Amino acid sequence: MPKAALAEALGSPSGFGQSQFAFMRGHAFEARVKADGGTELLRLTHACLGGGPEPEPGAASVPDLTAAGPAGRTARTELALEEASATGTWTLLDHPMLALDVAGTPAFLEPDAVVVAPDGTWTVVEIKSFPMIDGAADAAKVGAAARQAAVYVLALEEVARRLDPAPEVRHRALLVCPKDFSNLPTASAVDVRKQLAVTRRQLSRLTRVEDIAATLPPGTTFDVTRPAAELAAAVDAVPATYAPECLAACELAFHCRDRARAAGELTSLGRSLRADLGTLATIDEALAATRGEAGDADDPAVAALRRAGALRAEALAGGVRCP
Ligand code: SF4
Repeated sequence: MPKAALAEALGSPSGFGQSQFAFMRGHAFEARVKADGGTELLRLTHACLGGGPEPEPGAASVPDLTAAGPAGRTARTELALEEASATGTWTLLDHPMLALDVAGTPAFLEPDAVVVAPDGTWTVVEIKSFPMIDGAADAAKVGAAARQAAVYVLALEEVARRLDPAPEVRHRALLVCPKDFSNLPTASAVDVRKQLAVTRRQLSRLTRVEDIAATLPPGTTFDVTRPAAELAAAVDAVPATYAPECLAACELAFHCRDRARAAGELTSLGRSLRADLGTLATIDEALAATRGEAGDADDPAVAALRRAGALRAEALAGGVRCP
């Protein structure tokens, strides 16, 4: 079920995604990075991560990964990875397809590239169009790229485990960006070990899709041709915890944000705030706790809110003076 189409049918089309201009710019930059058989990309990989003798320009193998459907492309990618590891030559897999088990269902993933080095290591490559200025890029954007790369590393590790001997999947991804304000590529190795641990933990906690489906009312459908009210009821039957972070990652964000705000959910103000307030789940509960009308006084979050509420009341009454 494509979430963008679902959001559209629900009347909350997503603003998620790149503008056409940004998309074209990113596409042109990626083509430049991978031009001439990946000569520049492999040079950057070698410069940042080593991997064996320096790659000769134009000498790398760039296998054809075309196949029918995601499952076919995944199988073709696995074969190409196995062949590349066996030959020990620089190999660039351009837009390979990987599969990762997510809550019992295969999710197909398409990294920008994977490089196999002569020393047998596999490296995930992320090509982004945000600039790297004086060797450093926007920390939030690098963090998002690292989280994305960590998911690809996990999927690659599943492939590697099936080979004997199992190749090493690097836990440092190669992030390629435009240098300063130019269109020239530069790169940096990004350590994704922390993101790997977080992603592994999150995946292990996910409820299986079959278990979620079993809790839905009989006949529930996400068919986007159904009326919006029926679709909304179907979507609302699935538990969701909206947070502002969804705006950058999910096509249903506007729909879920409206629902979360209407229900006064604290997570709509941010996950960290929700975590700070412990047992309080809604804005109404937090305000009631602040007024001393609800909540367990022994709960540190409730006690802090009551104290904050009392200070606010004092300040409004003019009873608090600056020292
Ligand atoms: S809660 Fe967030 S991630 Fe889940 S469906 Fe809604 S917007 Fe998407």
